[in-house]
Amino acid sequence: MADAAIPFLDLQRINDRHRTAYAAALSRVLDSGRLLLGEETAAFEREFAAWCGASHCVGVGNGFDALHLALRAWNIGANDEVIVPSHTFIATWLAVSEVGARPVPVEPAPGCCNIDPARVEAAITPRTRAIIAVHLYGRPAPMRELSEIARRRGLKLLEDAAQAHGARLGGQPCGSLGDAAAFSFYPGKNLGALGDGGAVTTNDPALADRLRRLANYGSSVKYHHELAGVNSRLDELQAAFLRERLRALHADNANRRRVAHAYLAGLAALPGLALPAADDADTLSAWHLFVVRHRQRDVLAKLLAGRGIGTLVHYPLPIHRQGAYAGTALAQQTLPLAEAWANEALSLPIGPTISDDEVACVIEATREACASLDIT
Ligand SMILES: *Cc1c(COP(=O)(O)O)cnc(C)c1O
Repeated sequence: MADAAIPFLDLQRINDRHRTAYAAALSRVLDSGRLLLGEETAAFEREFAAWCGASHCVGVGNGFDALHLALRAWNIGANDEVIVPSHTFIATWLAVSEVGARPVPVEPAPGCCNIDPARVEAAITPRTRAIIAVHLYGRPAPMRELSEIARRRGLKLLEDAAQAHGARLGGQPCGSLGDAAAFSFYPGKNLGALGDGGAVTTNDPALADRLRRLANYGSSVKYHHELAGVNSRLDELQAAFLRERLRALHADNANRRRVAHAYLAGLAALPGLALPAADDADTLSAWHLFVVRHRQRDVLAKLLAGRGIGTLVHYPLPIHRQGAYAGTALAQQTLPLAEAWANEALSLPIGPTISDDEVACVIEATREACASLDIT
């Protein structure tokens, strides 16, 4: 019997759950007569700040803008360096490049997807201004160690929390663990809009005020522009949709966690297959992605595809080898751990709506595939 097709992420199913509420949100926005900078955005910002345990939230156009506007708000730019993980989505590096600063990549800890705090200190120079900590795949970065380094060396600490809505470290939510945090509400994220969206959370009121102006043409009073800002606003409709999704986020993340732990149990001790770390009392992943590693990753993906199981690779080409950085000194860097992730990572289907039967099917197919692969 052929297996049922299991998509990597069923966004249609995820959003269909909210069809009625989304229609009501659209009516509310139409009735309000405000499409930008209105009550829905203000309400979402309050609700999301509270959700993250931060005192301020500033909605912006997308996650990339959240990252580079935070750097700009700190006046980080030409001749500055910012420490970034070697293994992340390219937006983290491009945000640094966008403000004219230089990304300085630091490799992940062995056996972990996130930046190795033990390697950060050696990468700091007199030009270093900030560290961007990415909670990659939803797993909190080592924020205590990074905060200690940042404080001691006088650096800003920015969370890239685009994959970590609802992740926690020591009970404290990501989004309130650094000097500021950048979130993305790209449709496929744990908290996704019906289009692009993003936000910065922070406990610093002056930073929040500056960001709010930077994202609105540098203006706080209409047609008065104190800063050379940009246009990057979260719109009323996306904010209204996000308020609806936010209400489901705890339950959605609990479902992701259930799927992740079913995978961890069902795929334990398979030859050649490395699994992500489980949650524990201290570290709670948002399980945005469930990423395994295998030396025969491409063959494994093909075997799963043959069983109707969708997988993706996050990410297949390390950033320093992307065309975007060709011709820069970064292209000459040796980053073997980032390379290994690019060669071996495979993301299995995970999401808030995947069923127990589908999870069981992925486990069975992965077990059979691993048993058939040559790992000598
Ligand atoms: C998605 C993502 C971003 C960028 O967010 P956009 O809203 O797509 O601009 C930044 N960093 C990481 C780690 C991401 O996963």
